[in-house]
Amino acid sequence: MEINDFSRRKFLRQLSIGAGAISLGSALSSFEMLLLAPKKLGIALVGLGNYAGGQLAPALLQTKNCYLAGLVTGTPEKAKNWSAKYNIPQKNIYNYENFDSIAQNPDIDIVYVVLPVSMHKEFTIRAAKAGKHVICEKPMALNAADCREMIAACKKENRMLSIGYRLHFEPHNLEVLRLGQKQILGKTTQLDTANGFVYGGDPNAWRLKKAMAGGGGLMDMGIYAIQGARYTLGQEPLFVKATQEKTKPELFKDVDETVFWELEFPGKFVTQGKSSYNNNWGSLKAKTEKGFFELEPAYGYSGIEGRTSNGPMNLPNINQQAAQMDDFANCINTKIPTRVPGEEGLKDMLVVDAIYRSLDSGKKEKIGSV
Ligand code: NAD
Repeated sequence: MEINDFSRRKFLRQLSIGAGAISLGSALSSFEMLLLAPKKLGIALVGLGNYAGGQLAPALLQTKNCYLAGLVTGTPEKAKNWSAKYNIPQKNIYNYENFDSIAQNPDIDIVYVVLPVSMHKEFTIRAAKAGKHVICEKPMALNAADCREMIAACKKENRMLSIGYRLHFEPHNLEVLRLGQKQILGKTTQLDTANGFVYGGDPNAWRLKKAMAGGGGLMDMGIYAIQGARYTLGQEPLFVKATQEKTKPELFKDVDETVFWELEFPGKFVTQGKSSYNNNWGSLKAKTEKGFFELEPAYGYSGIEGRTSNGPMNLPNINQQAAQMDDFANCINTKIPTRVPGEEGLKDMLVVDAIYRSLDSGKKEKIGSV
């Protein structure tokens, strides 16, 4: 049935290209026109925690190019509740052990990995081997070497890999990218980016275990401050010097609490950045030759506000996750590259790795390149 549908769609598409879609349009039935429409892709969420439940699943009720088609969870109770809430058939529900049999499920086009960081690599590679395209949450992996393995595995299987970088679809952050990269207010002369929150959660959570999280506030929150600097300038940093502060060594015994860094970009332009699990930060502030532009709050799911030396940005807050997932589905359907491929995750992790090296050495460290 699937194969027949696919062949018919392919046949109709070739026919429409060969004969001219406009004259053919009137000769096609509405059913045939429907077959020509891009397929709404099925997404399976792997890991039904806070982000999957609070943000991604609700966003998938708003997406146009994709929908929630499957679940992967280690908790039967969650499988039952989610299946009832989102109307997911039993045949599309997997656990971590039988996950690989998702290869035989034509309902699932994209696997979205929403697990603790230490599990990102394994599930991204297993998903690609099962023939699925992949979205992997941030931070992409424990380190840049793992990111490279994930990129290579997806390339080998000819599957697209994207990182859950929602801010690359967010209007205020896109405006900053435009203002900075096109130098609308002149060259950027100073750039400060900061992201953090006061961690008040479970002291035994995976986020506070280096083996599972890779690090603390830097990995979780700092990644946005790093990419903010990168997309404002449209350049890759070459060196970094970092320092850290720990005021709660008991809670953050295994991971970083607050980290400060200076990124050196080509031309010796230096930006300031900071991340924290103990400060409520969320800003991107640029001074330019002709004025300034800034976001504060800068990186949240909503409530982002921006202003320039010419006044408020007056841009909408959108459902970032829906925009991000719809764009990826469209990229798959139209075979165009995603703006947030694995390489984008790797670039941030190269900076993170160098920051940790700098914290260890106390010196300025060279940042690796893709
Ligand atoms: P969470 O702890 O709420 O969820 C993690 C899920 O993984 C849970 O369902 C848990 O049961 C499952 N899991 C499977 N094996 C596990 C194990 N061995 N230990 C612990 N949990 C295990 O975490 P979260 O906040 O949903 O974060 C998940 C991922 O999403 C992380 O990579 C995080 O950085 C990312 N995230 C991204 C954003 C964003 O804005 N893009 C926001 C929040 C989280």
